[in-house]
Amino acid sequence: MKNIKELEQKYIINTYGRDPEETPLFVKGKGSYLWDEKGNSYLDMVSGLAVNILGHCPPSVVEALQEQSEKLFHCSNLFYTAPQVELAQLLVENSFADKVFFCNSGAEANEAAIKLARKYAKLFVDEKRYEIITALKSFHGRTMATITATGQPKFHHGFEPMVPGFKYAPFNDLEAFASLVGDHTCAILVEPVQGEGGVHVGTEEFIQGLRELCDEKTLVLIFDEVQCGMGRTGKFLAAEHYGVQSDITTLAKGLGGGVPIGAMMAVEEIARAFSPGDHASTFGGNPLACAAAAAVMKEILQKDFLVYVDRKSQYFINELQGLKKKFPFIKEVRGKGLMIALEIEGDGREVLKDCLKKGLVVNCIGGNILRFLPPLNIAESEIKFSLDVLEGSLSKFK
Ligand SMILES: *Cc1c(COP(=O)(O)O)cnc(C)c1O
Repeated sequence: MKNIKELEQKYIINTYGRDPEETPLFVKGKGSYLWDEKGNSYLDMVSGLAVNILGHCPPSVVEALQEQSEKLFHCSNLFYTAPQVELAQLLVENSFADKVFFCNSGAEANEAAIKLARKYAKLFVDEKRYEIITALKSFHGRTMATITATGQPKFHHGFEPMVPGFKYAPFNDLEAFASLVGDHTCAILVEPVQGEGGVHVGTEEFIQGLRELCDEKTLVLIFDEVQCGMGRTGKFLAAEHYGVQSDITTLAKGLGGGVPIGAMMAVEEIARAFSPGDHASTFGGNPLACAAAAAVMKEILQKDFLVYVDRKSQYFINELQGLKKKFPFIKEVRGKGLMIALEIEGDGREVLKDCLKKGLVVNCIGGNILRFLPPLNIAESEIKFSLDVLEGSLSKFK
């Protein structure tokens, strides 16, 4: 299989920076574990970047996929299909939303949200409106509109000109957001808990204040819950922690439990701005993806599932706080639910590499932030194992 790594360099466009010496080649996954081609096992604290929320190959999703794959993969949105409607019903009955649009990724869900917010504002509020205010350190995807929405200049370089109509304010700074609202503003778009930007948790004052600001100025409030939704923070939607309801919320990552799917959920008042022809996706809401996502939804909605997420989160964060006392180079422990970061002074990638050698998969963002996004059904004993490995790796960097 070494051949695969050589062939990758030959045939795959180099956007991921994988390293043939250090990056594992995974061939199998089960529960919280991954196996490489040599048979080594790894505890997975990244779960495909918050995607495999029920672990790898969860039986309920395998079964749903097997069953649906023998009936119908795809037939396009020219026709009705049951899994799409059933999944939409599950999403609506368990959230603020009245209606859903399906697509295939987080970026696409945010594209749909940007289009819907603009269309709504032009049709029903004021045709001069198109501008969207987003947060610095945010991440909303890699299409042209969503890199523009992403408030991190490094994602813009080389791709200019950006899409017009976006402004940025510091996250958790309500006054800065309010000061940018003008005659052209149509929406505010934020992640209630920022992911890619370093795991920054929105304050109550900020998230609740954005809701009030949007009500006052008739702006569409969009929450990007592509990473923090689907139970990741211990509630189905992170917004529930704040007692706040958005007008539009986007989901993707964990929604299909590893099968690609995205969704934009909206209240009817906003959703009505889209008419046939305004937006579409060939694969969006495809029966195979929707059957998988419905199986995922049913599991995370089971009684106590999210209570356990919360309990494991408390254990994990407490233990990390303990490590912070031990290692002065740990600057901060942040997070909500099982979306947790450890910010260090020094090179996080060195810690990552050492963990990997000992069979632990962690993630590093911005060079010095270790991020943990385990499967939501991870066992406490597995968290304990990862803490032990992490402590060993950190102690080498004293
Ligand atoms: C990952 C992510 C996206 C982009 O999702 P893709 O499926 O990669 O397009 C958008 N928003 C947030 C908050 C994300 O974490």
